[in-house]
Amino acid sequence: MKQYPVFDSLRRELKGDLYTDQTQRILYATDASSYREMPLAVTRPKDKEDIKKIISFAREINSSVIPRGGGTSLAGQVVGDGIVVDVSKYMNRILEFNAEEKWIVVEPGVILAELNKFLSTHGLQFGPETSTANRCCMAGMLGNNSCGAHSLIYGSTRDHILEADVILSDGTEVTFSKVSTDEFKLKCKLDSLEGSVYRNLRDTLSDPVNRKEIREQFPHPDLKRRNNGYALDLLMETDPFTGNGVKLNLCRLLAGSEGTLAFTTRMKINLVQIPAQKTGLICAHFSNLQDALKANVLILKHKPAAIELIDDFILDCTKDNIEQSRNRFFIQGKPAIVLFI
Ligand SMILES: Cc1cc2nc3c(=O)[nH]c(=O)nc-3n(C[C@H](O)[C@H](O)[C@H](O)COP(=O)(O)OP(=O)(O)OC[C@H]3O[C@@H](n4cnc5c(N)ncnc54)[C@H](O)[C@@H]3O)c2cc1C
Repeated sequence: MKQYPVFDSLRRELKGDLYTDQTQRILYATDASSYREMPLAVTRPKDKEDIKKIISFAREINSSVIPRGGGTSLAGQVVGDGIVVDVSKYMNRILEFNAEEKWIVVEPGVILAELNKFLSTHGLQFGPETSTANRCCMAGMLGNNSCGAHSLIYGSTRDHILEADVILSDGTEVTFSKVSTDEFKLKCKLDSLEGSVYRNLRDTLSDPVNRKEIREQFPHPDLKRRNNGYALDLLMETDPFTGNGVKLNLCRLLAGSEGTLAFTTRMKINLVQIPAQKTGLICAHFSNLQDALKANVLILKHKPAAIELIDDFILDCTKDNIEQSRNRFFIQGKPAIVLFI
């Protein structure tokens, strides 16, 4: 059992909230997964200075920091015995917007649906969409490299992050964005944790043994919708390592890193045009999973915007549901699988 630390000094220093009572800790002991672990404390920072103080305090007491947005993660990403840092309450402002160049700068706790509501009057939106859009936060999307039904055309959050202000474990503030090879070399010379991050990457990703291992072991690059560990395979294919002209951007490494590398306090993201409101849906019925999967390969060649697979377990659940039974009017017979294309 962990020794319960004295939080009074931190409480006095924070502008935001700090809770150590049982009720708050129970509320924050889980996410949308079935994992559950009591955190040491729950904080809701007002700004990045608060976050720095929390990180420094966590270091002092040898605990961990668990950044949290909407807490809708499905695999225990925001569950742990450290200090939960919930950015959704106070750090949720839109900071800067350029409709012409299609980008926006947001605080980490901005909710996706609210962002899109703001953008809709300009005919723009954030591309990746999750089913939890009405509560998930932008930094949570970055942490999980989130994407949704239209990942075929919009990719994932990693494809849309341009710049991120973060706080590193030693409390230093760093901005990650695209760097040329010359800038990368200068970064490697920095006498700071940021410099050591870049040097570490340089040494790791230029080692031929590591490069071979990464190429062989990582999923095929054509597999777009994946979040298997850190995106070292993508960083490796950039100008400093291959001379291919592609600038290195460490935001791509942050995407999918599940809050383990740095604390994001500000994000600049790329936007896309809202598509014309015309939707055609093909609901292909299949009598078994294998046929549906084979058909999927063919369908992809026709470049659909989205494909969703629904199996008979879900379909059966709609039969006796008053609301959903009206929505299954197009189902014919008893398909094992329906592909919504
Ligand atoms: C019913 C349901 C449907 C879902 N559908 C989808 C879907 O379609 N697509 C999809 O991708 N996911 C889906 N998810 C998973 C989840 O909703 C998304 O990944 C969502 O984007 C997470 O956002 P969040 O704000 O809730 O993040 P959280 O759960 O709060 O955090 C996610 C990760 O980001 C880190 N993080 C949060 N804030 C910061 C910060 N400021 N700095 C650094 N790290 C940070 C956290 O530590 C954590 O590791 C679904 C979940 C549910 C319950």
